[in-house]
Amino acid sequence: MNILHCDMDAFYASIEQRDHPELIGRPVIVGGLPGSRGVVSTCSYEAREYGVCSAMPSKQAYHLCPQAVFIPPHIEKYIRVSQEVFAILHRYSPVIEALSIDEAFLDVSGCHRLFGSSAQIAKLIKNDVLEETGLFISVGIAANKFLAKLATNLSKPNGLMELSNDQLIEILPSLPVSEIWGIGGKTAQRLNKAGIYTAADLLEFPRVKLESLLGSNTDFYIQLCSGQDSRPVLSRSDRKSIGNEITFPIDLSDQKEIEQLLLDLSCQVAYRLRHASLIAHTVTIKMRTPNFQTFTRSQTLQQGVDADLTIYDIALNLYHKSGLTGKHLRLLGLSCSRLLERNLEQPALFADENDILDKIIDDMKDKFGSSAIKRGSLLHNKSRNR
Ligand SMILES: [Mg+2]
Repeated sequence: MNILHCDMDAFYASIEQRDHPELIGRPVIVGGLPGSRGVVSTCSYEAREYGVCSAMPSKQAYHLCPQAVFIPPHIEKYIRVSQEVFAILHRYSPVIEALSIDEAFLDVSGCHRLFGSSAQIAKLIKNDVLEETGLFISVGIAANKFLAKLATNLSKPNGLMELSNDQLIEILPSLPVSEIWGIGGKTAQRLNKAGIYTAADLLEFPRVKLESLLGSNTDFYIQLCSGQDSRPVLSRSDRKSIGNEITFPIDLSDQKEIEQLLLDLSCQVAYRLRHASLIAHTVTIKMRTPNFQTFTRSQTLQQGVDADLTIYDIALNLYHKSGLTGKHLRLLGLSCSRLLERNLEQPALFADENDILDKIIDDMKDKFGSSAIKRGSLLHNKSRNR
């Protein structure tokens, strides 16, 4: 059992409770405020008792729990804490795959001599995180990624669980398909309609019929339902994509405003690429309309990119050709994929003045935080729009 899945408990809400002790024991909801079109980003366990959960519209959360304290997110602060947590994880294994700001897989195969068994490593991580950040992290241990994540979910909050084979045989067959990693709400509904509610149901279902429900992922889900998962823990350099997205408080249709946001997203994603010393060969934009239809447009490039304005030009072009200009949007996203280590590719440092400007902006962001500096055109255009 060499795979650890580590996940901070109610991350944003716990940080707010830590920093504002008067909130301890109270339902806390971090995300959009009740009057807005926003959603719940994280909520404290006290709020979960009222049925509030992540990604729920804030309006609905307010309905369920009007006495909750609603707090807008302080992303800069959460990123700082996340860096502290990841620094702790890096003490215990070099093979770490970040899943999100507060969640990661560790492969501890090579770490037992130094730190002991997987369970001992998990305890060390939990102690360090609590001592150094004042926050709880849950850790699941299993033979593969799917089962380790399952163990964490079963053990939360402040959990530590090593999923033994005996437990697995007991738990897995009756696991609802909606709890299987990667099966989203819509797929789960489709499966339920076909009479598939649990992992055991899925395994008993005729394969050919299953394929019409799960498509090319059929074999993968059959494996997960049997407790198999051969995906390795991928460290940073093996990352598949880097992206950011924004859900708007109100639907947007103004083309200029959307272009501004694309520029903003391009700068954020390009900064993350450069920070990870990566170069991208595909740029994708994602647009979601008010009726929740999602559209993506991609362009694949001969030459890898990591510059703010190059990525912006591609994104802008994709947006203009998307057929969605002037249409209302509720979400806009930008991601870069087909990533390569920068040094594997021709070094293009300081090729032109844009690269130099990117470098200066990066240095400022590193020193003063990413909100400290933005491209002049962003600020200028924003003020022109208002
Ligand atoms: Mg978490």
